[in-house]
Amino acid sequence: MKPDVQPNKVVVLSGAGVSAESGLPTFRDSNGLWNTFSWQELASPDGWKRHPEAVLAFYNERRLQAWQAKPNAAHAAIASLEAAYEVVVITQNVDELHERAGSSNVIHLHGQLAYARGTSEMPKRYRIEDAPISMGQLCEEGTQLRPDIVWFGEEIQFFREARMHVATAARVLVVGTSLSVYPAAALLNVARSRAQKVLVTLDVDKWPFGFTFLRGKATQVLPNLAARWLSEAGRVA
Ligand code: NAD
Repeated sequence: MKPDVQPNKVVVLSGAGVSAESGLPTFRDSNGLWNTFSWQELASPDGWKRHPEAVLAFYNERRLQAWQAKPNAAHAAIASLEAAYEVVVITQNVDELHERAGSSNVIHLHGQLAYARGTSEMPKRYRIEDAPISMGQLCEEGTQLRPDIVWFGEEIQFFREARMHVATAARVLVVGTSLSVYPAAALLNVARSRAQKVLVTLDVDKWPFGFTFLRGKATQVLPNLAARWLSEAGRVA
């Protein structure tokens, strides 16, 4: 039996595009990271085995950049919805701009730059904020520290929990993602037919069934959308 839809629940599924206007490059746009770097070398267990120094250097730079970035109007609009709704943000992003804008319930499917972990099977996570990780830096169990990032081919985090949230949402907002990374993109399949569903990106390769597409920059579209949703709930934005 399907779980009940919770009328007051908003689920936001966000991707790199929501942080683009904070100065953090996406992966697949024309100035995206994968046009400059090879994901096979830098974001895969194989790449880590072959040249861990290069992988650490890449993520040390990403971590510093993410730490220095500031949340933008799109992150703020999403956080503002908490005035009237139970909001769960499910993000593919590894920055913490949603939290820094005030979102209180954020699930990171692909890990967080601000954490490091060991390389054993059940590694402990360590909060490192903007600090670099170096070769030879070990966790308490004696294994090399690595970024707490889910690389291609690794299992994403909190997927069951994220699925449950999407399946019980009355409103689903998808923003700034190309929907090309699985299984994150497959979360949309469990969105309910009677949920209000909106997709906000610059372009649309994949237009998920039942979604209204609002083309445009997240910082321009989301403040208006959040104001509308807040007023529908009887709150002034
Ligand atoms: P992607 O690069 O595949 O797609 C980005 C999408 O955002 C595109 O559809 C593009 O049209 C849209 N976009 C770009 N600028 C936008 C804007 N200003 N407003 C609205 N939409 C905009 O990104 P993805 O789908 O998130 O890919 C997933 C992977 O990218 C994840 O694994 C994630 O960890 C990683 N990533 C994260 C960050 C970050 O944490 N900030 C940065 C780069 C990549």
